[in-house]
Amino acid sequence: SFQSAQRVRAISVSEILRITDHANALKRAGRPVIVLGAGEPDFNTPDNICQAAIRALERGETRYTVLDGSSVMKAAVQHKFQRDNGLTFALNEISVSAGAKQVIFNALMASINPGDEVILPTPFWTSYADMVQICGGVPVLLPCSEAQGFRLEPAQLEAAITPRTRWVFLNSPSNPSGAAYSAAQLKLITEVLLRHPAVWVLADDIYEHILYDGLAFATPAAVEPGLRDRTLTVNGVSKAYAMTGWRVGYGAGPKDLIAAMAVVQSQSTSCPSSISQAAAVEALTGPQSIVAERCSSFQARRDFVVAALNRTPGLNCRTPEGAFYTFASCSGVLGRHTPGGVQLHTDTDFCHYLLQDFDVAVVPGTVFGLAPYFRISYATAMTQLEEACARIHAACAALR
Ligand code: PLP
Repeated sequence: SFQSAQRVRAISVSEILRITDHANALKRAGRPVIVLGAGEPDFNTPDNICQAAIRALERGETRYTVLDGSSVMKAAVQHKFQRDNGLTFALNEISVSAGAKQVIFNALMASINPGDEVILPTPFWTSYADMVQICGGVPVLLPCSEAQGFRLEPAQLEAAITPRTRWVFLNSPSNPSGAAYSAAQLKLITEVLLRHPAVWVLADDIYEHILYDGLAFATPAAVEPGLRDRTLTVNGVSKAYAMTGWRVGYGAGPKDLIAAMAVVQSQSTSCPSSISQAAAVEALTGPQSIVAERCSSFQARRDFVVAALNRTPGLNCRTPEGAFYTFASCSGVLGRHTPGGVQLHTDTDFCHYLLQDFDVAVVPGTVFGLAPYFRISYATAMTQLEEACARIHAACAALR
């Protein structure tokens, strides 16, 4: 029988996908399930972007491109970093892949030796830990409590760095907490990193454009230019332009790292899709107004969900600065009993109860490395959110 390789034994298919698949299966079986699991905008890809892909097809751009991105795409990425972040990169400091996920994977494959440590603040996008493990590295999880705004404290980072530390990952705004760092907060982190010249920084900026209340986005390489020669800044078009299925992400950093990432990509996917790259060029260089419009509609949804959860007995929700997730505490419902007589011990029990008895699918904080919380992805229609929050309220009110 099949025996999987050692390197994949410690990892598994994302728990979020498993929960979402299960919820969708219940839905297909006729249950009125509302699925707030997936981290995917409900909007369509803007028309100008789709049209750019169609034009690329019509021009016959159906062949392999340069390994780690066509020159037109790299120029678009260069333009984006200059315009949005004030960061200047040469074309050989830019890498384009099938999603930000592949950029991160390539970077780890290209840099991690067995036993190398990667510092991951939690709650976090757990794919980071799985990818580190596939590459033979050791994920070092640093819990960032709600009391500290789900943000890494400088002293906590300082204490976690060892001679084996290869990378520190930062993700702002964060999946799942929605927490974001201001430039001043980030500066305190980068000051620590300046004292540790062997440690590299991976900034996952995929939620850059989903930031509320007029907050200014900040990224480590811009906040501390002294880190530029050991920072990989990762971003993509999935979340900002509702392009999850197109699979285009990009990263920028020191050219030797970028070159090593290209070697990895050359032996896996060769290059990102030519059509998708043409679409992404339009996304990055075309009109940007839709990004802000969509962000304000996400903000209205955030405001609704946060208020509804905070009115719900037993729940407590910090107001996230960005992304499209709430990460609410359910500690106030633990120990209580459902009408069916089941005692809720963990956030996973609570999420199970919401799905089984009230047809709402959300993801327990345990999946993201911090309990007892649950994540709602509010990238869905307001009517669905209203119904879901009413059900969550009813579920909590029914506990004894
Ligand atoms: N980084 C974070 C924090 C994410 O939440 C996601 C997607 O869920 C990604 C990266 C991957 O995005 P992409 O679609 O560009 O691979």
